[in-house]
Amino acid sequence: MDGRLLLDCPPQTLAHLYQLGGRPDDIDLVLLSHAHSDHIGGIDLLLLGVVVEHGDRLRERPLAIAGPPGIRTRVGELIGSSRRLPGPRDPRLRWFEQEGGSSFTWQDIRIDCISVEHAPDLPALGYRVRIGGRTLAYTGDARLTPAIDELAAGSDLLIVECGGARERGHFEWDDVRELRGRLPAATRVLVTHYDHMTAPERSSLPNIELAEDLARYEL
Ligand SMILES: [Zn+2]
Ligand SMILES: [Zn+2]
Repeated sequence: MDGRLLLDCPPQTLAHLYQLGGRPDDIDLVLLSHAHSDHIGGIDLLLLGVVVEHGDRLRERPLAIAGPPGIRTRVGELIGSSRRLPGPRDPRLRWFEQEGGSSFTWQDIRIDCISVEHAPDLPALGYRVRIGGRTLAYTGDARLTPAIDELAAGSDLLIVECGGARERGHFEWDDVRELRGRLPAATRVLVTHYDHMTAPERSSLPNIELAEDLARYEL
């Protein structure tokens, strides 16, 4: 978002960032929703991009990484013992391990953290982000519960996952439609984390946008 904010960091993040003409050292804040590898597996390469390819800008501008409790340890395991990368105790990284219901501010970005239900015994957060007078909400991976309505309230854009299996803690397409029906028309709904092969016809998803890799969306 604006080249400054990352919502989760899957393994393909750095490659996609370069393909979009972005620079990893422009990123100020990474919001990690939960510790599954498809959401955090690119964090070591991202740090490599910041530190190695663009010089050590972290000395002037620390990078903030936020996530649910335990995320710092988990990311530390991914970084491993590399001498080139800042480890989880490096003062050039700022950590925000957030409980559900909490809020924090980084630079001019205000973030509300809301607990969502995903996998058993794994804390997972959705985020409501206020930046430049606009509000973006992001579910991370979650099943449809009242927490999602709380998360989406007042947002200009809701990014909702559709992993497609309630029993595995994900939205199904009918859940997306149901939620869309409850939200004001002014809230745009953008679906991510879906299977392109099994996605329904777009005509059956009124007022719902499907995110594409490398596409740009205005907020
Ligand atoms: Zn997950
Ligand atoms: Zn996932």
